Amino acid sequence: MSARLLIVGPQGSGKGTQGVRVGAALDIPVVSTGDVFRANVAEGTDLGLQVKSIIDAGDLVPDELTSAVVRDRLAQADAAQGFLLDGYPRNLAQVMHLDEFLEGRDEKLDAVIALVVPREESLSRLTARAAEQGRADDTEEAIATRLGIYERETAPILDVYGTRGIVDEIDGVGDLDEITARIFAALEARGLRPAR
Ligand code: ADP
Repeated sequence: MSARLLIVGPQGSGKGTQGVRVGAALDIPVVSTGDVFRANVAEGTDLGLQVKSIIDAGDLVPDELTSAVVRDRLAQADAAQGFLLDGYPRNLAQVMHLDEFLEGRDEKLDAVIALVVPREESLSRLTARAAEQGRADDTEEAIATRLGIYERETAPILDVYGTRGIVDEIDGVGDLDEITARIFAALEARGLRPAR
């Protein structure tokens, strides 16, 4: 079954973890812009060199560049029947880019999973992750920048998708499996069921 999904949530909301679970269950590729950028930085590609300092500071990579990366990825064969986007779009300009791209393919998003996590909770999870994983953008300053951008630029995209009736707000606090179950319940209510 095809499903075109977007998962949105503040840093530390667990969207990466939940996105991978949902993608696997629905048998659709997960397209995480953060992962794509980090892989390019690790491999030292041209793209990686271009974005490294931006990412480390917690700022957004320019919209045109990010949208081009996503368009390339979605043009690959495995995304023809569906995909789950994690981390894109994350501002209104990117929503317009994605709309245009999907309209050109006669496609649209089926659902937007919005993980709801209070700021204090995401802050404490990020601080814990910083100690464990040492991601370059998990410094106190970059975290503050990323959360600020989320609140100012990313949260408003939920209003746009909300008017289209495709947003499912999911309580992102609690046991990981419990949260996954909440997401599946919401997707099933839209007729989107795991393949097995
Ligand atoms: P987080 O959600 O914890 O900030 P991500 O892995 O989603 O982590 O993204 C890491 C970084 O990659 C962002 O801070 C930003 O620099 C860059 N990035 C990811 N997605 C986008 C996007 N859609 N637009 C611009 N920059 C992005």
